[in-house]
Amino acid sequence: MRARPETVLKTVFGYDSFRPFQKDIIDALVAGADCMAVLPTGAGKSLCYQIPALMLGGLTLVVSPLIALMRDQVAALAAAGVDALFINSSLSPAERELAEERVRAGSVRLVYAAPESLSGGRLLSLLDSVHPRLVAVDEAHCVSEWGHDFRPEYRELSRLRERYPQAVWLAITATATERVRADIASTLGLKAPRLFLGGFDRPNLNISVEPKAGALRRIVAFSLSRADAPGIVYCGSRKKAESVAEALRAAGLAAGAYHAGMSADERTTVQDGFIRDDIRVVSATTAFGLGIDKPDVRYIIHADLPRSLEQYYQEIGRAGRDGQPSECVLLYSRGDVVALKAMMGQSGEDERPGALDRLDAMRAYAESGRCRRAVILEHFGESAPGAPCGACDNCERGDEGQVDVTVQAQKFLSCVKRAGERFGAGHVIDILLGEHTDKVARFGHERLSTFGIGQEFSRSQWNALARALLDAGHLVREPEHKTLLLGRPAVAVLRSESPFFLPAIVAGDPGPAQRVSKRTRALQRGNIPGFQAEGDEAGGELFQKLRMLRKELADAKRIPPYVIFPDRTLKEMASIRPASLEELAGIYGVGRTKLANYGQAFLDAINPR
Ligand code: ADP
Ligand code: MG
Repeated sequence: MRARPETVLKTVFGYDSFRPFQKDIIDALVAGADCMAVLPTGAGKSLCYQIPALMLGGLTLVVSPLIALMRDQVAALAAAGVDALFINSSLSPAERELAEERVRAGSVRLVYAAPESLSGGRLLSLLDSVHPRLVAVDEAHCVSEWGHDFRPEYRELSRLRERYPQAVWLAITATATERVRADIASTLGLKAPRLFLGGFDRPNLNISVEPKAGALRRIVAFSLSRADAPGIVYCGSRKKAESVAEALRAAGLAAGAYHAGMSADERTTVQDGFIRDDIRVVSATTAFGLGIDKPDVRYIIHADLPRSLEQYYQEIGRAGRDGQPSECVLLYSRGDVVALKAMMGQSGEDERPGALDRLDAMRAYAESGRCRRAVILEHFGESAPGAPCGACDNCERGDEGQVDVTVQAQKFLSCVKRAGERFGAGHVIDILLGEHTDKVARFGHERLSTFGIGQEFSRSQWNALARALLDAGHLVREPEHKTLLLGRPAVAVLRSESPFFLPAIVAGDPGPAQRVSKRTRALQRGNIPGFQAEGDEAGGELFQKLRMLRKELADAKRIPPYVIFPDRTLKEMASIRPASLEELAGIYGVGRTKLANYGQAFLDAINPR
């Protein structure tokens, strides 16, 4: 009889319960149905094929695009006692020989391979000798030209379907629109695949936006206050990535830079150092992150504005894959929008369809006073969870961080109206500020009742208000002449039936000191349940000790520390303080093999004689 998925989950991986969709996907695959799954980063996609691989027996082929990922996944499986290996160009001839030997002998359950390995005949003839029972295509969006990361080698996979008709298939990825999904299914020849669509929400990520003034000091202070926590600082340029890394090192932090201008060796050193917890903070351009599955990245800071919400979401998605609370801070200044637009103009990039719209969506997100989560989810076509989400700066702050600008909104809207809805924001602001420009004179606008009534705001504040009114639909921009018209909801504001707020960050900045959110303050004190700052919590010292032990064991085996145990396991050990192997087995993440290999070492550390 076959083991139950729950049993495999507990005995092999040490986890007590499935995350959403895992069980359904596993059941479907084991029952022989092809599946297509789109689940967010950190959802636990790997287990969706690893557990069926163990249940089905025989061989599972896992296709994965990144060699670095394969190595870590195989190391993680080995630590859990699963016989797995990878075959790719990084193996020496002798290693490859040995790997193939093991596959033929029939004990290996999972073989990881890059798609390009499949075009040569060698891997195929190996597979011919042990027909795979399951073919799992990870990062399956790479199959489709419509995806954001198309890799032509993935097209080779179509050959496998005919070659091994008995195999069941899983295509799995974090991002695939309907069009991409259809493309994947037809390219791979999936048979009436069952579709599993997970949401985009990542409730364990606390997201916030802060003004960019004093950014470098803020980044250093933030990293220092979380000295042991792995983090990534995303920068808009190579130079910036270098200078941030330098500032962090000067502050005594183990930091490294990562960008495409470095040699492949240098980049590998930084990436490996990060995965192995030798480097705590990496300041990087967007080039960093694709090849890492590190589950315990605790914070992501964006030092510069990303070009789109898609990019932003992908980058913050690298935090907290282990489901533990993690922080994402975007440092925002309006100047970034201007600079990015100028750069796009120069490189001809704004001719790429939608580039400016994507940037504007990112801008609107940063300047929004609404629940951040709601803005992101709506952007991806999902409805928001019940607000307040409790884990974004706007929800935490509530009205505190909002400035009531209803009167100014009314002034602006009525000025638009009185000038005949025929002008752009610049002219409307001239009228409000009482500027005697040529245009004002030409249209006799100094006679309007709204002339000069807006001295309380600066031009940039009026501009910010205009953008917010546009974002909220109170204003509509006529696309051809860029003139402003009133939107339908504007009436309610004009009649004082609904108030209008601007986030402090936009209305005029009270300065970073006041802007530390309630939650962050509580966090620093360590008194939000489940969100304690490490070291403050009960057992903090023991936790640090267990971490050091983990690092020693990992270095000795040359594997990443998280492969031995995730943070949550160490936290549970530190607070529950198990006294026997039996008690230890009950702890999160402690499976059979890890118990046998590391159990005693951790017990000794917890219960010194
Ligand atoms: P994804 O590929 O979807 O981003 P991973 O497969 O890398 O996610 O898993 C992320 C982390 O979550 C890993 O550390 C994994 O061990 C852990 N994980 C997966 N499933 C579970 C579960 N059911 N319970 C606890 N932890 C899990
Ligand atoms: Mg994955």
